[in-house]
Amino acid sequence: MKKTNKFEHVCFLEVAEDDRVSVEKNFPGAKIISKPLSEKELIKEAADAEILSPFIYTKISAKAIKSLKKLRLIATRSVGYNHIDLEMANKKNVSVCNVPDYGAHVIAEFVFALLLSGLRHVAEGDDLVEEKYKFSFQGFKGLALKNKTIGIIGTGKIGAKVAHIASSGFLMNVLAYDPCPNKKLAKENNFQYADLENLLKSSDIISLHCPLLPKTKHLINTKNIALMKDGVVIVNTSRGGVIDTKALVKALKKGKIANAFLDVLEHENNLKKSKELIDLPNVITTPHIAFYADDSMESMYQTTFKAIKAYLNKKELPNKVSGI
Ligand code: NAD
Repeated sequence: MKKTNKFEHVCFLEVAEDDRVSVEKNFPGAKIISKPLSEKELIKEAADAEILSPFIYTKISAKAIKSLKKLRLIATRSVGYNHIDLEMANKKNVSVCNVPDYGAHVIAEFVFALLLSGLRHVAEGDDLVEEKYKFSFQGFKGLALKNKTIGIIGTGKIGAKVAHIASSGFLMNVLAYDPCPNKKLAKENNFQYADLENLLKSSDIISLHCPLLPKTKHLINTKNIALMKDGVVIVNTSRGGVIDTKALVKALKKGKIANAFLDVLEHENNLKKSKELIDLPNVITTPHIAFYADDSMESMYQTTFKAIKAYLNKKELPNKVSGI
């Protein structure tokens, strides 16, 4: 008897091997592609797709939307949707759904993973034991978090969680800057708002949690770095473009900035451009993995599955981002 591929009109892109089982279980027969696709590949691979579920690295361009004649729903498994040409989606009656929040705590926790492992020399300690077979504390004096001041730039979903963990968990002093301050949030999470200048001047650690917008591009630049304390530590899990890479490299070389712990880079698609930064000994770089954990993936996929099932059952679409 011929096996029917029930969901062969559904196409998932950028699915990691770990997450494949869940997709297969919910949508048997769906096309599952692990890597991001170029425009040309997308037009070929998704030619039969009525429903497309990308992550953020496949650009769903106007040309692709125009070419994919059967496409009716794009269910992106991300908060952001600037990789999708919404105007063309609207024009072609293609609905677009996103995942508005898949777990800010996962990114907030990662901020402390970077801080603790970097400031307490976890990786270097492991290297010494594993590679050199030595067991010595020499050279590994760390920096404690308690009573230090952390400055949080952007107190949205993630920044607020970082503030909460910093104040309640690590007993840090927390300053925050946000153009839209929320007094109730500050009270609940035990932090104080400051203007950007004062935050930069007073913080031992600065953690970035604002979106990348024309206004926030290179928010951390030569001028703002000059305001910071000598030996400040910078953590960036927001977007690489919020920091001017050249200015950061200069400040790290001079020791003005003691350490930079970066999950995001200005040139993630062209690492050669960030080589000088990546190679510095006082920099830890991770490949944009702050979001990637059990809770967040479960929530990301389940929210997407719900949207696809609502579409298939002709119910109202949750988390619609286009006007359709
Ligand atoms: P959010 O929208 O909930 O909060 C963003 C906050 O930034 C808002 O409060 C906003 O008022 C504030 N803001 C806007 N302009 C600002 C400025 N000029 N200065 C300071 N604050 C400003 O977003 P979120 O969910 O908290 O995410 C924050 C950022 O983290 C996202 O924009 C995204 O780029 C990044 N992110 C990274 C990962 C990762 O894996 N590394 C995962 C998710 C999100």
